[in-house]
Amino acid sequence: TKYVYTFGDGKAEGKADMKNLLGGKGANLAEMNLIGVPVPAGFTITTDVCTDYNKLGKDAVVAMIKEQVEAAVADTEKAMNAKFDAKEGFPLLLSVRSGARASMPGMMNTVLNLGMNDDTVKIVAEQSGNEKFAYDSYRRFIHMYGDVVMGVEAEEGQHNPFEVVLDKLKEAKGYKLDTELTVEDLKELVEGYKVVVREHAGVDFPTCPWEQLWGSVCAVFDSWDTERAILYRRMEGIPDDWGTAVNVQAMVYGNMGETSATGVCFSRDAATGEDQFNGEYLINAQGEDVVAGVRTPLEITLVGSKRWAERGGVSEEARKADFLSMEEAMPELYKELDTIQQKLEDHYSDMQDMEFTIQQGKLWMLQTRSGKRTGAAMVKMAVDMLEQGMIDENTAILRQEPNKLDELLHPVFEKSALEAAKELSKGLPASPGAATGQIVFSAEAAEEWAAAGKKVILVRRETSPEDLKGMYAAEGILTERGGMTSHAAVVARGMGKCCISSAAGTLVTGSSMTINGVEYKEGDFISLNGTTGIVYEGKVATITPSLDGDFGKVMDMSERNTRMYVRTNADTPADAKTAREFGAKGIGLCRTEHMFFEGDKIWKMREMILAEDVQGRKEALAKLLPVQREDFSGILEAMDGFGVTIRLLDPPLHEFTPNDAESQKEMAEKLGVSVEEVAKKVESLHEFNPMLGHRGCRLGNTYPEITEMQARAILEAACDLKAKGKDPKPEIMVPLIGTIKEFKMQEEIIREIAAAVFAEKGIEVDFLVGTMIEIPRAALTADQIAEHAEFFSFGTNDLTQMGFGYSRDDAGKFLPIYIEKGILKNDPFQVLDQEGIGQLVRMGCEKGRSTRKDIKLGICGEHGGEPSSVEFCNSVGMEYVSCSPFRVPIARLAAAQANL
Ligand code: PEP
Ligand code: MG
Repeated sequence: TKYVYTFGDGKAEGKADMKNLLGGKGANLAEMNLIGVPVPAGFTITTDVCTDYNKLGKDAVVAMIKEQVEAAVADTEKAMNAKFDAKEGFPLLLSVRSGARASMPGMMNTVLNLGMNDDTVKIVAEQSGNEKFAYDSYRRFIHMYGDVVMGVEAEEGQHNPFEVVLDKLKEAKGYKLDTELTVEDLKELVEGYKVVVREHAGVDFPTCPWEQLWGSVCAVFDSWDTERAILYRRMEGIPDDWGTAVNVQAMVYGNMGETSATGVCFSRDAATGEDQFNGEYLINAQGEDVVAGVRTPLEITLVGSKRWAERGGVSEEARKADFLSMEEAMPELYKELDTIQQKLEDHYSDMQDMEFTIQQGKLWMLQTRSGKRTGAAMVKMAVDMLEQGMIDENTAILRQEPNKLDELLHPVFEKSALEAAKELSKGLPASPGAATGQIVFSAEAAEEWAAAGKKVILVRRETSPEDLKGMYAAEGILTERGGMTSHAAVVARGMGKCCISSAAGTLVTGSSMTINGVEYKEGDFISLNGTTGIVYEGKVATITPSLDGDFGKVMDMSERNTRMYVRTNADTPADAKTAREFGAKGIGLCRTEHMFFEGDKIWKMREMILAEDVQGRKEALAKLLPVQREDFSGILEAMDGFGVTIRLLDPPLHEFTPNDAESQKEMAEKLGVSVEEVAKKVESLHEFNPMLGHRGCRLGNTYPEITEMQARAILEAACDLKAKGKDPKPEIMVPLIGTIKEFKMQEEIIREIAAAVFAEKGIEVDFLVGTMIEIPRAALTADQIAEHAEFFSFGTNDLTQMGFGYSRDDAGKFLPIYIEKGILKNDPFQVLDQEGIGQLVRMGCEKGRSTRKDIKLGICGEHGGEPSSVEFCNSVGMEYVSCSPFRVPIARLAAAQANL
């Protein structure tokens, strides 16, 4: 078996389409070699080896791949004209990095400068003519290796022991910056760090490069299963069994003096999608310096540099003196980089996110990958690249992540509120969008507060991968330090979360923040505009953005390529209208019980509930009739010309009666009955398991007068609209049936009422009578049901509840633990369980069609707006999916993708 794939010198054993085996990074390193981009030589150990590693353990795997790794190191030595474990000549120093199929930025381990020891450091010093550089690299290596491989870390409440040694030395010498360290200082640090290793790890720092290499390779495999990597995979939906590859590559140095540099760049703007090469670099620095956000990096292009200066109010003189772009500072190398970025974007036909290093005037590319982007950038790039002829329409559709459209539908600050708002600071617009919330200073606090229903802004000095949970929980992120490519910025953009980094005048400690001298504490409100980088005091009102331009083009593309169409779940004319603007073609579910929660309608409903007998109920229902008719008229009119599925009353009646004494007293007074009577009714309506209780068609079958009233209200509204020249298309839906009799009884009532209404009005309206399939028994007997029902709408919320036996109301207690333990991959109430519940849906469709060939099939459970579930609905041949208004665009794109 081949475990190791080499690359270098314009040759490679792998290529771009081998991502599953080589990981994204490894496959692209190989590909770059093949297309003539300068890449330091090295090799990739496959993801299969990671899987073996987790099964067989360290020793077995090292034995298994040893020979191939040694041969690959020899190849690398040849390509780089350097020697690993060198006694003379320039030593080959290596980097060891992870590289999974899907990118997991900052989540796994990396070791740099591998191969350094007391001997090689001397040779490096001699050969590079730069002793300071050599010893700096050595001490960084001990720190990193100690950290990553030997597990040297800070004890509870203490600082990192390596940092302690460094800080002590700096303090003793009166230095502020690391760059002030002299060669002698660095040598002292090396010795100090070795002591730290000995004290914390109980063994000496390994001097043998081969031992260092194996330690690092295994550490990368180990890091696949760290807590933060597992969490990231869960959030991003990356399977645990993919494993990571390990990339071992010759080091090149951006910190060998003023002709060396390192940077990160993007072939287009990852935040806005603008077709403008951009990025950041640092002269005389190592790659980690740029990403970690410790030194604030400079712009690569002149355009970017000027924009940056303008945003920060930096004068042109100051910019030229201290903040030169790479385009100005290193024009030849800039040109070469610009050509390469264009070549890579053309080659991959996608926006590239690249890392490079310049070692003493020679440019090397270290990585390229498809760049993470905001929802807005995703849409703009897809449309631009289609119009530029780089990609075809199918690719433009398939390349977009439907869920990311969500970001475009989300609020931005209201203009007037924004004008009135007080600016506190300005930082880098690291990830666009608007956010308002209360300040918290730790990831833990962000999680806690968010769990308590509060909106929070996570404020940190700089973020590290440990902050991930808090970033997910927060509305926005504000950091004191860092650049556009710092960890916080990259991760926030990927999540579509608003983020501002390097906010001017800001100082963050563990528990407070001062902005230009004013203190802000935990719980204070601030607002962030991630699009401009401005931080505002207090709350700032937000509005929903408009949806024309490129977004509209994406929707048009989806429309052209879809088979299914999308309806919406809406209970009010306003929601119906919003959804129609988003492209909904009809209503898939109008939950009529929701209509009673508006205004004082609930009182008429309560009167009906309190009624002692049929007569009393009928009187109360007569008062409800005009109210319902008006509701239905509004919603049918808002969706004129499209099908509107109106569901008969579903929930348990007790949801409409108050539980506390005070409200019961109010109810008694308002309805002119005694408090005891109200209390008695409430008690009689109590159910142990309301979700399985007196709800759905069980209500209509025990109190047929309710169905009579609702059917009448729907059909009268439809007749009146038709008389006015409108085109109403009501579809009356019976909920929660488990047997055909339950359906037939309701259907009979509806058809009788229809005949009566049509006779009274002297006008007829086409309408359908159908049912929900949401009880497993209904799916199992769908053939019988379809003999009578004209349509099915799959209620996958209840179908999941009853199929799994998980209470929709109580599952929150254990589902998170189930997901954490890997018992479930996803929350089945969000992502349809295709394997199990999906069988019920598929069976329902097939059986339904077996007795009614053209039965109309759709879904109205929450899953109707979730991309993977939408794809499933397409595969079982549904006519439409229905979802909440703000998910309509997502479902439309997902439906088109499912059809391609
Ligand atoms: C369902 O059960 O999936 C459904 C749409 O109905 P509800 O959520 O109202 O129970
Ligand atoms: Mg239901």
